[in-house]
Amino acid sequence: MKKITTRARRSIKVINKTSEMQKISKKIRRRNISIGFVPTMGALHKGHISLIDIARKHSQFVVVSIFVNPTQFGPKEDFSNYPRTFNKDLDCLFEKKVDIVFAPTINEIYPEEYGTYIDIPDFSNKLCGKSRPTHFKGVCTIVAKLFNIVSPDIAVFGEKDAQQVIILKKMVKDLNFPVKIITGKIIREPSGLAMSSRNKYLTDKQKQNASIIYKTLKETEKKINNGERNIQNLKKFIRNGLLTKMDHPATAENELKIDYIEIINKDNLQQPKTLKGECLIAIAVWCGKTRLIDNITVNFNH
Ligand code: AMP
Repeated sequence: MKKITTRARRSIKVINKTSEMQKISKKIRRRNISIGFVPTMGALHKGHISLIDIARKHSQFVVVSIFVNPTQFGPKEDFSNYPRTFNKDLDCLFEKKVDIVFAPTINEIYPEEYGTYIDIPDFSNKLCGKSRPTHFKGVCTIVAKLFNIVSPDIAVFGEKDAQQVIILKKMVKDLNFPVKIITGKIIREPSGLAMSSRNKYLTDKQKQNASIIYKTLKETEKKINNGERNIQNLKKFIRNGLLTKMDHPATAENELKIDYIEIINKDNLQQPKTLKGECLIAIAVWCGKTRLIDNITVNFNH
């Protein structure tokens, strides 16, 4: 990437104050200019960039937020260690000609007297919600707040966080947010590993072993296309792929530990009784101390 001077970096508009962001959005909307929004926690990679490109295609004015949201982390999770690369992120947003970066402080979003949270228990207690019981409450709350602050016409989210997309679409519908949610495909490393800010925690060996996640998902898709329709057989096949087919022998550091393997209906996050139509195969594994998620959509009607 081209080296960017501090001066160029400073020429990108960074807003820290909620009231200022709201004022700007109001002004833009009054001029009938559509706002596209990409919420992020920073430590940007090509996955984030792909969402910015989608926002640009669907709107005239692009806002990207960078906010490591404390309410979506559990007490024993990595909030304080989460990668923060703000200046590098600004360089990249400058290159993408993003119109505004909204980067509030924690106190701006959650002042001392803060007390309102949004939860969709039937959706947020499944899959990732089982091991991260407060995660989606934090996600819904921050996204609702950001929608009220940025007032976007469209907001773009990655399919990598499939459960998050399903939950946010429900929140938008249930609470009548005038925002259209658009999704972007999962961007992957050449090895197939889904890009993630948390991949920074992984060693090279861990990365190589973690690439078995996508390979296994693709193998499973093949099995389905060859006619397999038994959920238990499919889950066993995935489990076996994840645990026995890694490049490096499993050691305490680089073995994969399964958090969940689910085959679910995208509408309600429930496992269907019979497999037909489109379903989501979603996986969460621990690789050492890092939790990784991935998914593919498969069609059982083939
Ligand atoms: P995060 O910064 O991790 O909160 O992610 C911000 C947005 O980027 C979310 O909508 C994620 O789903 C999306 N995202 C993260 N990784 C990827 C990826 N590999 N491909 C596409 N979108 C992604």
